[in-house]
Amino acid sequence: MAIIEPASYAAGHWVGPGGDARLVHGPVDGAAIARTGGAPLDFGAMIEFAVTRGGPALRAMTFHERAKMLKALAAYIAERKETLYALNPLTGATRKDGAVDIEGGIITMSVIASKGRREMPDGNVYVDGALEQISRKGSFLAQHIAVPLRGVAVHINAFNFPVWGMLEKLAPTLLAGMPAIVKPATQTCYLTEACFRLIVESGLVPEGAVQLVIGGTGDLLDRLAAQDVVSFTGSAETALHLRGKPNLLRHSVRFMAEQDSLNASVLGPDVTPDSPEFDLFVKQAATEITVKAGQKCTAIRRIIVPQALLDPVAQALSARLRQTTIGDPSGDVRMGCLASEAQRGDVAARVAQLRQEARVVLDETGFEMPNGPGFFAPTLLACDDPDAGQAVHSVEAFGPVSTLMPYRDLPHAAALANRGGGSLVTSLVTQDPQVARAMVLESAAWHGRLYIIDRDSMAEATGHGAPLPHLVHGGPGRAGGGEELGGVRGVLHYMQRTAVQGGPDVLTAVTGQWVPGARQIEGPAHPFQRTYHELQIGETITTDSRIVTLADIEHFARFTGDTFYAHMDEEAARANPFFPGRVAHGYLLLSFAAGLFVQPDPGPVLANTGLNALSFQKPVSPGDSLHVRLTVKRKTGRTETYGEVAWNATLFNQDAEQVAEYELLTMVAYDRA
Ligand code: NDP
Repeated sequence: MAIIEPASYAAGHWVGPGGDARLVHGPVDGAAIARTGGAPLDFGAMIEFAVTRGGPALRAMTFHERAKMLKALAAYIAERKETLYALNPLTGATRKDGAVDIEGGIITMSVIASKGRREMPDGNVYVDGALEQISRKGSFLAQHIAVPLRGVAVHINAFNFPVWGMLEKLAPTLLAGMPAIVKPATQTCYLTEACFRLIVESGLVPEGAVQLVIGGTGDLLDRLAAQDVVSFTGSAETALHLRGKPNLLRHSVRFMAEQDSLNASVLGPDVTPDSPEFDLFVKQAATEITVKAGQKCTAIRRIIVPQALLDPVAQALSARLRQTTIGDPSGDVRMGCLASEAQRGDVAARVAQLRQEARVVLDETGFEMPNGPGFFAPTLLACDDPDAGQAVHSVEAFGPVSTLMPYRDLPHAAALANRGGGSLVTSLVTQDPQVARAMVLESAAWHGRLYIIDRDSMAEATGHGAPLPHLVHGGPGRAGGGEELGGVRGVLHYMQRTAVQGGPDVLTAVTGQWVPGARQIEGPAHPFQRTYHELQIGETITTDSRIVTLADIEHFARFTGDTFYAHMDEEAARANPFFPGRVAHGYLLLSFAAGLFVQPDPGPVLANTGLNALSFQKPVSPGDSLHVRLTVKRKTGRTETYGEVAWNATLFNQDAEQVAEYELLTMVAYDRA
């Protein structure tokens, strides 16, 4: 096979390997597979290109436009994924391992795009949380917002997930509206480059939004400033070196790290060897040891079991692992190899460290081991005194290696899991929700994710080792202290959260959402006869009023079956501190409100899809009158033909006192039928 020459993509130009290029050797047979880096890159020009071209182009798009771009990009890569699978075995990964990397990356990008469409506005300002009422009369308010940072995000990625590692960071960054410079790990950079090439060739991403560095980062980090971000995945040592760079500290550059993690899996004290949970636990441990040959940041490094089950688990897990077929990852084998000869040397050295504290349960003896510089057998160790152990809780052998350890009781199990010093994930297999609760209370503070399964949830469970775009990926302490993904929270890492204080009109203008107290607009027709595009933020109708009678309340009670005493029994209602006597049902008020504001003719309003944040502020008694103020609060495009209009509905009594408020959601057509 011809040697691959992956190129950097700097300031709109591809830059191939230079005179000082490094040869990358494959882990399967040791042959040279790529020439990488070695060409001088002008990092100043790259930053400038990102900040002056990529940033403004991305910021000119709304969140929804960027989300659509990411959706299209994920589809574009998915259609061409076989070009990536063709390179995947060179990294030592089987096709199944490759799916975690390639499909996993595509799905992550797609899910982040969907979340952008659903949970972010079709605008340029993200509204973070509720309006803060900081004045008595409501003439001065505050709202947290988030806007894209004005610099560049530098992504430094690990060798083990060349595709997922890039896409899981790019998706939230681009959705936020920030350009990125991606630096993949050299050992597997040719696969990252192949995927990056697809991104550029798609023409979907504005110029300057993405750039690629193959090889060293030179003075890139020394040139970053206040609006930039570094997002790193790799070893704790490199993270420490990079995050301590004076330039990054001087400018308070955000530095997110996802690094070594001594993840654990705990077998609940309720589990017996003949229960489905026992098999589930063993199967999960075997999977996590062998997938990607254990080179997963989330892999199980410590297997924590009740003292009495140490031997049964050791036997069952060894038996299962012994069935692992190991070989050329392009063939029909369960496990391929480590990413490089150096990685194998690193894993072997770390196993030697672990063996100071743990005995060998399973090693390469008994396996048919292929020749090749990256092959390493599934290795199971057991540490009989994990309280005394140090290395077993701190040395990460980044390969198919795991250490069994016994616990006395649940607090001890949790304490051992926490000895990892901060981990990405710990799993617990138990059928007892109280065991789960106790473990969560003891261990959540030390983990980014807790994964709890039993026989009932296992069929749909997503996997101990699978970071999901919806959920936090990161962990405290040793795991790096950073967070990635986690839905829209992951997007906010590339944005500035700012509290904006001002009057209602100011906040309406800034957020694009009508705030109570802001100017109201009178439209030329009833709002239910206005299309999505015609409706303006702040457009308001105030309805006629109607009297709520005792007959109405009794009719509603009989009609719906809701004969709660507060509506039907004067004496009992009076005894309730909330009510002056019999009062109208809250749902009756809502129904009357709809009757007051609805315009009944066919028109652009297609459907009522829900209501949010309903609150009742004051009881309504028989004889009170009711009227409604209905205001267009927020508009969000949803499909090619209609969008969602959120209305503020406020109900008042005859004394202009507010009795109820909610946000009504409707789907409204863009055009008249
Ligand atoms: P490194 O920390 O050496 O490398 C990670 C990334 O940082 C790579 O892209 C690397 O580039 C880059 N890098 C290294 N030094 C610098 C520098 N001075 N300036 C800028 N970028 C730099 O980790 P490895 O990938 O070599 O893996 C080593 C160990 O890290 C593993 O054995 C494992 O223990 C742990 N690891 C943990 C992961 C996790 O998610 N928990 C993931 C991967 C690794 P280059 O490749 O060009 O050197």
